[in-house]
Amino acid sequence: MSTAVSEVAAALSRGTARIVDLTHTLDPDFPVIVLPPEFGQCARFRMEEVSAYDHRGPAWKWHNITLNEHTGTHFDAPIHWVSGKDVPNGAVDEIDPGAFVGPVVVIDCSDGAARDDDFELTPEVIETWEAQHGMIPKDAWVLMRTDWSKRSGADYLNMAQDGAHSPGPTPAAIELLLARDIRGFGTETVGTDAGQGMHYTPPYPAHYMLHGAGKFGLQCLCNLDLLPPTGALLIAPPLKIKGGTGSPLRVLAMVMA
Ligand code: MN
Repeated sequence: MSTAVSEVAAALSRGTARIVDLTHTLDPDFPVIVLPPEFGQCARFRMEEVSAYDHRGPAWKWHNITLNEHTGTHFDAPIHWVSGKDVPNGAVDEIDPGAFVGPVVVIDCSDGAARDDDFELTPEVIETWEAQHGMIPKDAWVLMRTDWSKRSGADYLNMAQDGAHSPGPTPAAIELLLARDIRGFGTETVGTDAGQGMHYTPPYPAHYMLHGAGKFGLQCLCNLDLLPPTGALLIAPPLKIKGGTGSPLRVLAMVMA
C-alpha cells in the first residue's frame, strides 16, 4: 500500500528527493561565541583519544569529547534564555519530537550581508520575500541565508573593539515571524542574533522574543545556498540532554533532486 511516508522513502531511493547536510564538522578550530570577559564562556569542541587499536584497547578506537551545548552547528531550546525559562517542556529532552521535523523556508540575505557586515533582517525584507514566495507558513523553520558560513577564522566572528559584527534580525522582524507562528529561526552565524544585537530593545531580540514564545533556534548552519526558498523539509533533532538548553546536532534538509 502506498502511503505518504512510503512515497518519501521511495523518492529518496529513486533519487527524486535528496538530503542536504546543513552541518559544520565539529572541529577544535571552529569558532565559538565570545562574550564580554565578565561572563562565563562557551567551550570549544575538544577530543581526546582513549585508545586506537593499541595497548589501551587492542581492537577498538574511540574518543572522549567535551563541548558546550552551544558549540558548532547547534539547536537552542526555549530555556536557553531567561524569557523562556518557564516555557513548558522547554528543555531539549522535553520537547515533543514532532517539533524536530518540519517545513523550512529560506530568506536569501546574501547580497545584503556581502555589502554590510551588520545587515539587518527587517519586516520589509520578509514582506518582499513573501510577495515573491507567499506567506511564511505556520510552524515553518525560517532560515536566514547570508553565506556567512563560507567565512572562516577571525572573519567568522568578525570581532572589533565594540564586539562582533555579523548580520541578524531586528526586533520588528522577530515580531513579524512570531505573528506567522513559526517553529524557529536559524542562521549561518554564531548566534541567531546580530553581532551587535545587544543594542536593540529588547537586547538579543531573536533569543529573547523567540524563546519567550516557546520557539527554537539553530545557528552555525551551512549550505543554505543549496536549499530552495520553499518546499524543503528540515530534520533537526537535538541530543536528549536532561535539562539541556541546547545541543550540537546534525541538521539535514530533504529537497527535490
Ligand atoms: Mn545557542
